[in-house]
Amino acid sequence: MTVAATTPRFKQNAHEALHDERLQGALLHARNFIGRRAAATERLPEFDALRDSARAIKDHTLAHLDLYLEAYERKVTQAGGHVHYARTAAEAVAIVLGLCEARGAKAVTKGKSMISEEIGLNAALEGAGIEAIETDLGEYIIQLRGEAPSHIIAPAIHVTKADVEADFRRAHRDLPPTRDLSQPEQLLSEARGILRDKFLTADIGVTGANFLVAETGASIIVTNEGNGDLTQILPKVHVVIASLEKLVPTLEDAAQILRVLARSATGQDMSVYTTLSTGPRRADDPDGPEEYHVVLLDNGRSAMLGGQFEDMLRCIRCGACMNHCPVYHAVGGHAYGWVYPGPMGAVLTPSLIGVADGGQLPNASTFCGRCEAVCPMRIPLPSGLSFWAFFAQRPALYRMATDLAMRALHLVGRGRGRFSWLPLAGGWTRYRDLAAPQGATFQSRWRARSGSVR
Ligand code: SF4
Repeated sequence: MTVAATTPRFKQNAHEALHDERLQGALLHARNFIGRRAAATERLPEFDALRDSARAIKDHTLAHLDLYLEAYERKVTQAGGHVHYARTAAEAVAIVLGLCEARGAKAVTKGKSMISEEIGLNAALEGAGIEAIETDLGEYIIQLRGEAPSHIIAPAIHVTKADVEADFRRAHRDLPPTRDLSQPEQLLSEARGILRDKFLTADIGVTGANFLVAETGASIIVTNEGNGDLTQILPKVHVVIASLEKLVPTLEDAAQILRVLARSATGQDMSVYTTLSTGPRRADDPDGPEEYHVVLLDNGRSAMLGGQFEDMLRCIRCGACMNHCPVYHAVGGHAYGWVYPGPMGAVLTPSLIGVADGGQLPNASTFCGRCEAVCPMRIPLPSGLSFWAFFAQRPALYRMATDLAMRALHLVGRGRGRFSWLPLAGGWTRYRDLAAPQGATFQSRWRARSGSVR
């Protein structure tokens, strides 16, 4: 399904969530992550030093993103894969649909991917008559329910065991109605049986990526269920969908950030599966896809480089900020109204879809600072929220400021389509050219087409 953007109704969404007793019961589980993270970080004395290192790796990568993108593309191509660049969600969807059409694909299995939620891939596949099957258990459950994820690492955290039993009885009509589904293991076993057939018959497997490694051309995904491995190994075509900022320079860099990722997310020392894929199956490989494609999505990220919100591009989607957020604990993820919930969503969403639609989200903060205190990438989330809170109360001023900035930049770069120098962005332009704005802002284009997204 396409994620309906209801961010302008955040206050109303929050009010409804606070009065939803079933949701309030389910949300108690989100607090379990707090103790697990604390225990995991205590077991690792160098945890804070690793956070500093992780931050430095990402800052360095973002400062040289063009070089690492080129190096990554070269390695993927050398391994026999293909890299596709998508400036917008629509372009990314068109690329994936084109690959499906070329292969005559009827069924696509999917590993968990927030980017595919951001671009509305499932709805597009289904619109093209292609079955899209989520293979992460939480994603599979919310797909059956026709819902969006409510958490970036625990997408069905808002759902109770009784809800899942009712959903399975409704969806799996071929199975005996008298079967016992009272235990979590029985629900898991039933989902495993259903998904096993889907893995074996899918034409294309789509996964996200936690990291893209410029040194080797590898994409890395972490899962606890092994569904990512089956999604990328069994079909004849593997498509990775990832946003630009997932790049890291080397495998050693990825390994360092992995040490803070799972500890911050679930309190595990490492996720159960850490899977690397680099290109299609080689002659002596026992298995693997015949074709390997990477779709690299921008969708507003490059406009964040060198600006107020560049820090957000360090985010590794661990979910720690929402696990520790009192507002998230109270209202859950759907109240935030778009793909990314919690403090990281409250900062990132207005950056991507604009303050007119996302401007209520800074209300989703007590400014207690817990999100920044636990963020493994040391992202100053409360500062980002303060910035948006200022402009959310002055939307006309925000529109005027961004429109003026775009016009000024358009004038400075006119004729060449690029800048070789910009005031306050010397760090970015010292070693590279920056593309000049080519028309309306991303946010104004979003406003123009928002009717088709909601
Ligand atoms: S902002 Fe920080 S804590 Fe939140 S998901 Fe991103 S990396 Fe994790």
